[in-house]
Amino acid sequence: MSWREELKNSKRIVIKVGTSTLTYTNGQVNLQRVERLVREMADLHNRGLEVLLVSSGAIGVGANRMGFKKIPRTMPEKQALAAIGQGALMHLYEKLFAEYGKTVAQVLLTRGDLDERLRYLNATNALLAILGMDVIPVINENDTVVVEEIKFGDNDTLSAMVASLADADLLIILSDVDGFYDSDPRSNPEACLLHEIYEVTDVMEDNSRSRGSSFASGGMYTKLKAAKISMASGVPMVIANSDTPDVIRKIVGGEEIGTLFIPREEKMHARKKWIAFGTVTQGEIFVDAGAEQALLKRGKSSCLRV
Ligand code: GLU
Repeated sequence: MSWREELKNSKRIVIKVGTSTLTYTNGQVNLQRVERLVREMADLHNRGLEVLLVSSGAIGVGANRMGFKKIPRTMPEKQALAAIGQGALMHLYEKLFAEYGKTVAQVLLTRGDLDERLRYLNATNALLAILGMDVIPVINENDTVVVEEIKFGDNDTLSAMVASLADADLLIILSDVDGFYDSDPRSNPEACLLHEIYEVTDVMEDNSRSRGSSFASGGMYTKLKAAKISMASGVPMVIANSDTPDVIRKIVGGEEIGTLFIPREEKMHARKKWIAFGTVTQGEIFVDAGAEQALLKRGKSSCLRV
């Protein structure tokens, strides 16, 4: 069975929606688009699938509410806008999902919540309990209380972490681009959309370091970072354009929409996932040739205990 076909069997799906999808370029909420996506997600839920929504937009919506033309630079101002916008964002989701009889739960995470093993497990258990109650978690970074060192920094990374910790079957990142191109389609009309990617290379990452719109913080670079986490965790990830009609239904139906990042064959063990992605790296480890072989070939080392 092809990887696209496999997506039809997905039971637990993380969907990430970025600020550029939620808002117009002038910063106002794109109600028509948000309504359409909520309807699609509610419909997936009606089919019996578990849906986790990772939504950006707190800072963007807050900035718009306060009449800012662009996002201010200082951390306290961004934190204040996140506090203003997050409430407005949840109000919108609460209202739209309720139209389809769905209940939502706000989950705000920080990097620190995943750094310690116990807190990581607590966050996982809380998310699973929400899903167990047939509720749709709406997840964002807790921007108001985080500072740079403990920030995920972007919701693409956050969505991959959530997909990893919730052991999701699929991560969909919806954006204003059709997927991953072999060169920048904004400057090169000949650029080709890649439908499947097996490995994120350094060259791909280097070529993708451009910023998003003035209200959004991501770009292709953060999506590739997310793809690496997702692929290593064993979760397939699709980047697609939120304006494609029935985009979510088509992806889950196995259609060749956007770019699919193919995961490693096996899912990573829960504890390894936490070590690899949950913990904030401190210091460096030097690995000698013998240990390198043991780690790469046998997945362990007799002298390395982590
Ligand atoms: N957490 C930020 C917000 O809600 C967005 C981060 C991102 O766009 O990646 O505004």
